[in-house]
Amino acid sequence: MEKIKAVAASPGVGLGRVVVYVEPDLNFGGLVYSGREKEIARLELAVTAFKEQITLLAAETEAKAGKQQAAILTGQIAMISDPFMITQMEELIGQGRTAEAAVSEVTTSFKEMFANVEDEKMRQRATDIGDLRKRLLMILMEVKELDLASIGPDSVVVGEDLPASVITSLPTANIQALVSEIGGYTSHGAIMARALGLPLVSGVTGLMKLITTGDHEIIVDGTKGEAIVDPDENAKTEYRLRREAWREEQSSLKVFLGRQTVDGDGVRRTLSSNISSFAEAKLAQGAGADGIGLFRTEFLFLDRETLPGEEEQFRVYSEVASLFPNSEVVIRTLDVGGDKEVPALDLPKEDNPFLGYRAIRFCLDHTEIFSSQLRAILRAGAEHGNIKIMLPLVTSLEEITSARALMKQCLDDLKRENLPCDPAIQLGIMVETPAAVLLADILAKEADFFSIGTNDLTQYILAADRGNSKLGHLNSPFHPAVLRAIENIIKTGRKRSIPVSLCGEAGADPMMIPLLMAYGLDKFSVSPSSLASVRREISTWRLTEANSLANEVRDFPTTGSVKAHLLQVIENRRKLRTIA
Ligand code: PEP
Ligand code: MG
Repeated sequence: MEKIKAVAASPGVGLGRVVVYVEPDLNFGGLVYSGREKEIARLELAVTAFKEQITLLAAETEAKAGKQQAAILTGQIAMISDPFMITQMEELIGQGRTAEAAVSEVTTSFKEMFANVEDEKMRQRATDIGDLRKRLLMILMEVKELDLASIGPDSVVVGEDLPASVITSLPTANIQALVSEIGGYTSHGAIMARALGLPLVSGVTGLMKLITTGDHEIIVDGTKGEAIVDPDENAKTEYRLRREAWREEQSSLKVFLGRQTVDGDGVRRTLSSNISSFAEAKLAQGAGADGIGLFRTEFLFLDRETLPGEEEQFRVYSEVASLFPNSEVVIRTLDVGGDKEVPALDLPKEDNPFLGYRAIRFCLDHTEIFSSQLRAILRAGAEHGNIKIMLPLVTSLEEITSARALMKQCLDDLKRENLPCDPAIQLGIMVETPAAVLLADILAKEADFFSIGTNDLTQYILAADRGNSKLGHLNSPFHPAVLRAIENIIKTGRKRSIPVSLCGEAGADPMMIPLLMAYGLDKFSVSPSSLASVRREISTWRLTEANSLANEVRDFPTTGSVKAHLLQVIENRRKLRTIA
């Protein structure tokens, strides 16, 4: 038995058999050319194996999901049977390329060709070619990949990294918990795990050396940040008790689902939700969210080989907006980069991705991608009149004015095309960089609203990477510098009469909630799975009590002293409530 302490990244407990997730390594750069005959023979064998594999998979898919889905797979057999494709591969082999290099070059050029056509249906073929490339390379290189969707019941998925795109592909009902070697509380894998209600412990260094698929059992306590490999009977008994306590806590929260949010004074508060898909929007609606405070649209762009077009985006945004006819839906424009990689964009790796070519910087540089998103949002806005646009990672006034100019151009184009759109749509910004905090009074002239992104703001103010588990103790929104920044933004918003919300993970922390109320925050926005607990917490605070607490900690000098005081106050209040 081995007990490991690490980052408590998503609450809850789970016990199951280990399933190891390893990103397939398809780097063929070091392979040696074995001569024309041999490479062509390898290619032929791989193509035959590929056809067999796909035929089997198509039969299974037809039984499970119908003829149409199966046809997508058999379409790949038709592609590889095209003599033009094979001839090109053989020609490259004749010029001294390995079978792997030939497959990669030819399929990539086909993929690019499809990716650039106008017709959206044809563009989807690029995804199929990408899939074909991966499968052929895996056969050639004898690399096995874990089929995420078919992971069995009572599994704990363990990986060096578990990015959001992997977590969303898992069969949630079969997954007890997750463990990863890298990642912090606010990395996007962790945000996704919390959204799906899957316990996650991250930052477990050295874990992959310790385990292999199926050979181990593991207990994961995502609330405490603890993983126990090969637990003994005592540990399992303790685990069952913790699981019971967790379930009781969850069921006691049920009364806070689907109702209005009211503070201890009886004043109505706005509590909206952060989502990244229509499915999450449904959860938020079911839990009684006051609209959507943050739609992370980049998740529509991940985990696929082509970009979603204007029509596809328009449909999704409209569907989400129609769930909340009486409240706002804030759609954040594409926030790529950082720890969110979009395969379809094929962006080069950067040394400092969080300080790099991302979010609004990327969008203003790729106006065709940005315009198609803006057009989709503006059109969805016309249908329901409840949509707002939000720009990520703003650091300067010009970024807002440039985005506004592009938005205006999109509006003019849509009007000319007789497509309904919302000309009065509001354009706000995420305040998540030190520059935006310091310039808040100036940015307020161009922005219709602010939303504080504490995940990024904390990492940038404290120069501590949000995904680096070794910096978890530094990366805290309770650092006095971050608290001051949050208070200043809210005060500036008030002075300039623009609403301020907060959509970072800190908004769901019971220790932060009274401070935000005291600072005068207009709107909380948290993940669907936190709506009930945040609603309960808000209901316990009267404004005078929250103000006193904020005054008490205002001049505390360190993260430690702030947290210790808040924890003590919160614990005492809980004890008093239990006695009462
Ligand atoms: C943030 O940075 O706080 C935020 C809400 O956005 P994201 O986590 O997607 O960067
Ligand atoms: Mg952010």
